[in-house]
Amino acid sequence: MARIVVKIGSNVLTRHDGKPNVTNMSAIVDQVAHLREAGHELILVSSGAVACGRGAVTPSRTLDSVAARQLFSSVGQIRLINIYNDLFAQYGIVVGQVLTQKENFSSRTSYLNQRGCMLTMLENGVIPIVNENDTASLTELMFTDNDELSGMIATMMDADLLVILSNVDGIYTGSPSDPGSRLIERVSPGEDVSGNVVASKSGFGRGGMGTKCGIASKVSEEGVTVKIAKGDRRNVLVDLIENPGAVPHTTFEARGEALSTVKRWIAHSSSFAKGRIVVDDNAEKVLRGDSAVSLLPIGVLSAEGDWEEGEIVNIFDREGRLIGVGKASLGGDATRAAIGQRGGRPVVHYDYLYIE
Ligand code: GLU
Repeated sequence: MARIVVKIGSNVLTRHDGKPNVTNMSAIVDQVAHLREAGHELILVSSGAVACGRGAVTPSRTLDSVAARQLFSSVGQIRLINIYNDLFAQYGIVVGQVLTQKENFSSRTSYLNQRGCMLTMLENGVIPIVNENDTASLTELMFTDNDELSGMIATMMDADLLVILSNVDGIYTGSPSDPGSRLIERVSPGEDVSGNVVASKSGFGRGGMGTKCGIASKVSEEGVTVKIAKGDRRNVLVDLIENPGAVPHTTFEARGEALSTVKRWIAHSSSFAKGRIVVDDNAEKVLRGDSAVSLLPIGVLSAEGDWEEGEIVNIFDREGRLIGVGKASLGGDATRAAIGQRGGRPVVHYDYLYIE
């Protein structure tokens, strides 16, 4: 039986007038209940708070975007969760709300704390319904969107599958509205289909496929299969699991060997980095290669920032492209002192190194 994370987008959950789309929500709840009955474990990542709140309250004066997001999400989130609660109660299923923010992923302690909370919920038969805490998140430290959040939850919870329910059937070879475009059904590990998405972005308007594609590639590289499908198709969720041939969608196949929990955390920690390390061409080549190697002082060209051993650092090539993220084995000063030296302790040990 599988552990499945289902991300449901705002446009599936709300109608054009900003009211909750109870028909779609009810159809999704029916399917989640069915899958649970079949023995699967489910976690929902549900957007829609801001959109629902917008339909429920008219601000007394023009608000800036932060205040508007805070106001709308505070109102919309309880509406959404109440509807979920009522719909799941009809099946005797208990749900719990998890509101989180990016900072909760910034240290390994808070990461494991959050993971522990959701494992306890699952163990007790409670379905977690996760959303970003939009009333509290700082703009500069927000998830790009709930696609990013769902990717972090799926890898953190060692899910077998992440399903992203959107308003299109998946990734197309061009704009989804162009009759010449074809749905890409399978993406192999390491295959880059992002070029197709750029073309479809302007046609689609909302432009969300770019992040979906990036997140799906990253998460599948970490060992979790990702499926993108259209959320309001009849029986979409059940079909994806039980009869995938029956529903149009894009599957990002998981790389066979899953990353360790610590590497998964590091993979999503780039935005918390305290330091910046630039490596030479040779080190870059070796790090990107197939063998398990650590980053050694000899390959470091420069190191900026004030970090301690155990903190996160970003690793760049000479052109300034991010090539990896690591948990440092040496602090910033010790790294600078060791630059260019042969031997000695690694700057980042292989077990704590994630290469993009
Ligand atoms: N957390 C936002 C909400 O509930 C959604 C973010 C997104 O659209 O991905 O409205």
